[in-house]
Amino acid sequence: MELETQFLTENDCYQIGQTIRPQGVMVHSTGVAQPDPEVFVRRWNKPNVEKCVHAFVGRERTIQTLPWTMRGWHAGTGTTGRSANNTHISFECCEPAGHTYQGGEMVGYDVQANRPYFNALYQNAVRLTAMLCRQFGLNPLEPGVVICHAEGYDLGVASNHGDVLQWWPKHGVTMDQFRRDTARAMEDNDEEDDMTQERFNELMDGYLARRALLGPSEWSAPARAWAEEQGIVSGDGDGSFRYRSFTTREETVQMLYQLKNA
Ligand SMILES: [Zn+2]
Repeated sequence: MELETQFLTENDCYQIGQTIRPQGVMVHSTGVAQPDPEVFVRRWNKPNVEKCVHAFVGRERTIQTLPWTMRGWHAGTGTTGRSANNTHISFECCEPAGHTYQGGEMVGYDVQANRPYFNALYQNAVRLTAMLCRQFGLNPLEPGVVICHAEGYDLGVASNHGDVLQWWPKHGVTMDQFRRDTARAMEDNDEEDDMTQERFNELMDGYLARRALLGPSEWSAPARAWAEEQGIVSGDGDGSFRYRSFTTREETVQMLYQLKNA
């Protein structure tokens, strides 16, 4: 996953620099129609902001803004007197442009037009959460591990905010879905990790060898007869012209050269 890093070093939260042992991930949304993560990085990288998160997720990029084990200021305090700030890594999802808010509800949000934006952002959020769960040995399907701010309020570990449930359900996505997608993304990563350069080369060599054995198609018969007669293709010496193989630039200029001298 491509991850940029721009730590909010001027933010008081970073300056104080307390640490946590991450036991979960809390998902937020910014509550403002501003799709550019960089805008938040600029706005929050100063003193007296009084909030700070570990990352901003946008449509095309994810920017990490605090070390994952630094205590963030994102959840406030819940009804139990506890705070997810002490336990959860946090990230803000940037909302697309075009809507406003009234009493915590989105107004003028165009679900249809924003679908591509949402889908891309959602995938970035899944990827980031899967990466964090792997890195810190967390199971996203265990209760209280991967939660949004609104769920944190219900659990008594976050202030009374509705994110991301004021937004994601408009696209038919629940937090249960997000947790399942995160778990699945972690499995996909497992498969990727088994791939080495050596193994890839092996597979590629096998693929190319199999292609070389494929016979040519009937439609190219006149062209092949002509090319062979002119000596433009000369085959591999074993009687195979490897007609279904890829051609290198070296082979291309050789064929042109032979055409010129035919
Ligand atoms: Zn929030």
